Amino acid sequence: MSDQQIVPFFESVNRLYGKAAALTNHAPGLLNQIRVCNAVLYMQFPVRINGEIEVISAWRAQHSHHKLPTKGGIRFSEHVDQDEVMALAALMTYKCAVVHVPFGGAKGGIKINPRNYTPEQLERITRRYTVELMHRNFIGPAVDVPAPDMGTGPREMAWIADTYQQFNQKEIDALACVTGKPVGQGGVRGRTEATGRGLYFGVREALNDEFVLNKLSLSKGIAGKKCIVQGFGNVGYHAAKFLQEDGAIITAVIEWDGAVQNDNGIDIIALDVHRKATGSIRGFAGAITHDNGVALLENECDVLVPAALESQITANNANNIKAKLIAEGANGPVTSTAEEILLNKGIMILPDMYLNAGGVVVSYFEWLKNISHVRFGRLGKRFEENSNIRIMNMVENLTGKSLNAIEKDIIARGAGEEDLVNSGLEDTMIMAYHEIMEIMKTNPKVNDFRTAAFVSAIDKIAESYAMLGIFP
Ligand code: NAD
Repeated sequence: MSDQQIVPFFESVNRLYGKAAALTNHAPGLLNQIRVCNAVLYMQFPVRINGEIEVISAWRAQHSHHKLPTKGGIRFSEHVDQDEVMALAALMTYKCAVVHVPFGGAKGGIKINPRNYTPEQLERITRRYTVELMHRNFIGPAVDVPAPDMGTGPREMAWIADTYQQFNQKEIDALACVTGKPVGQGGVRGRTEATGRGLYFGVREALNDEFVLNKLSLSKGIAGKKCIVQGFGNVGYHAAKFLQEDGAIITAVIEWDGAVQNDNGIDIIALDVHRKATGSIRGFAGAITHDNGVALLENECDVLVPAALESQITANNANNIKAKLIAEGANGPVTSTAEEILLNKGIMILPDMYLNAGGVVVSYFEWLKNISHVRFGRLGKRFEENSNIRIMNMVENLTGKSLNAIEKDIIARGAGEEDLVNSGLEDTMIMAYHEIMEIMKTNPKVNDFRTAAFVSAIDKIAESYAMLGIFP
């Protein structure tokens, strides 16, 4: 029996929370309030599928109202249940706090396998779900703002935004009711790849930190590090791509139907082309295909990136994990029991609540763009370019030397939306990394990064409650 059958997901999150909470000085009542899930909505609604009525089960959990709106993805999966949604909502609360995003945590789920439905049927389900949320005041720019998660993407977010706008035509900020929208429909450039990019920034920071390198006996930098990635979806694909661009060697990619392995490195872009053409990573010419994908989690590597789904490293396989660093792309891929085993083996874990926060950071930027009704960079880009050109002309006049047209373009370019989003994300990930590390380095009772991240989150949430005057 695996530990996850014994410890439900929300309980597993709460155990990790409890370990950190015990190291803080906050009052027990406040720590309880931070831990519990503030509101859960369970819905069952009818949708016509192939002429028949199908009853769809769905949830939305708002874990913490200490800041509003609440924020979190919507998952389409036949494995969704209330416990999972509550656990994921809790992780969102801590994640937002860790990366200074002023939202409470939430999560939604619809219990369907999206592969079993046509786009028209998925649209009907998504729009009906949105109406159910609206009727119960569980969605809105100032209330609760969903985003994509497993099985959903920009298309579903566009349906949600459109449905909400139809019913709220006089609400000027209606577009901010959901993030992760296509750029043409109020989305922000850089959102799609944000979680994978943020993961890359976090791993890069750790692999440049002497404290970590000494602990793990690793050399500095990403270049040459052997990485295994589980899940080749939004997070896994982008994480692998950014790591590879910086010189990492991706030795294996694991999917639900098998894995591909090449110890000299897998070309991630070519693998994506193959997967799009065939519907699977299996049979990729640049690697060996394995039937038992999950077994490759136990292969030798420097960095293991579980980026598929929760509870992949459990008491059953934790002892066999050989990676030095586990970079959690997915939410909850390591169970609380497995974590103890891994830490005892000297393996370091960069936890979900920090490492996959890139999505919510850029979602926050998208929400800001929607409520301010202006694209980032619109006011300053041209001014910045003109200033740069003036400085270049002066330097050329003073030195008597001149740059060629390409060099001039590179120097003069003002920051556009994507530049600002990516640099805001980079800054956020670096700042949060060092805040968490500071707790780990200065508090002798805090021995691991996840506990330090929880302490960081708890301190910030406690501060918000104090500001509300609830826990003076
Ligand atoms: P996705 O649906 O785009 O990709 C998930 C991938 O995992 C798919 O390719 C799927 O085939 C694969 N997969 C499913 N079951 C598997 C299994 N048993 N073994 C190996 N692979 C399997 O989803 P995503 O958005 O990339 O999300 C992945 C994880 O990251 C989830 O835990 C999600 O909560 C978390 N996450 C996502 C975001 C985001 O911005 N998308 C942000 C934070 C956290």
